[in-house]
Amino acid sequence: MKIFNTIQSVLFAGFFLEQGNCLASNGSTALMGEVDMQTPFPEWLTEFTNLTQWPGIDPPYIPLDYINLTEVPELDRYYPGQCPKISREQCSFDCYNCIDVDDVTSCFKLSQTFDDGPAPATEALLKKLRQRTTFFVLGINTVNYPDIYEHILERGHLIGTHTWSHEFLPSLSNEEIVAQIEWSIWAMNATGKHFPKYFRPPYGAIDNRVRAIVKQFGLTVVLWDLDTFDWKLITNDDFRTEEEILMDINTWKGERKGLILEHDGARRTVEVAIKINELIGSDQLTIAECIGDTDYIERYD
Ligand SMILES: [Zn+2]
Repeated sequence: MKIFNTIQSVLFAGFFLEQGNCLASNGSTALMGEVDMQTPFPEWLTEFTNLTQWPGIDPPYIPLDYINLTEVPELDRYYPGQCPKISREQCSFDCYNCIDVDDVTSCFKLSQTFDDGPAPATEALLKKLRQRTTFFVLGINTVNYPDIYEHILERGHLIGTHTWSHEFLPSLSNEEIVAQIEWSIWAMNATGKHFPKYFRPPYGAIDNRVRAIVKQFGLTVVLWDLDTFDWKLITNDDFRTEEEILMDINTWKGERKGLILEHDGARRTVEVAIKINELIGSDQLTIAECIGDTDYIERYD
């Protein structure tokens, strides 16, 4: 539970600072609603949803022709910390490190990946990276920071979805999971003129119910096999030092392969990401290159 809350506050830290607000001054939900979202709300999306502006952190469920929820297995919903009550049959990655044959968990070349942007901190990372890499973005951050999203694209990086607002998906209803994914895709359609192919679940929280929904969107699930726990750089308890992280990187360098989980939502994790990049060098791959597949399901330009 502690981990869950910590990541949630790290995620939105960039946003709060930008808005001139203090993290402790208010509940995050109320503040997110006040955001002046920058990506224009497209007309086609108004026709489709009857809405005229981007939603807050609880996006509404809009039924889609190609999503059939009767085909989704009926499995128990669970919250962070409830793993002991979960059957191993659900194949939960966050509880049991269980993976499906279609999940991508590694790469034949040691490669970094970055979650939770686009955020103001992302820009410093973009300036330093000398190779193409993969970013898993939040829809709500995409419509808040479309300029940064475009900078990621201009530099040739691959972008996948990380949901609309970073919910713990196994705790949500099927409809709420669909809403988290469809709105993240629409944010990417409107901002980057493409339909994503790769999806990474927040907190790595995924079981066969979430997988069944994600697959109906045509998305490929991407997890990781090497975790920096870089978010622990900004927590007071369970603290992890930069030296500890860099020692792990040196060990992984010896193996030469693997998929590294990092975060570009906060300045501190980006500082360390840049050092990791200097250590590993530019001989890295994007997720699409790791598995020899295309970058996006579709491009609209
Ligand atoms: Zn995340």
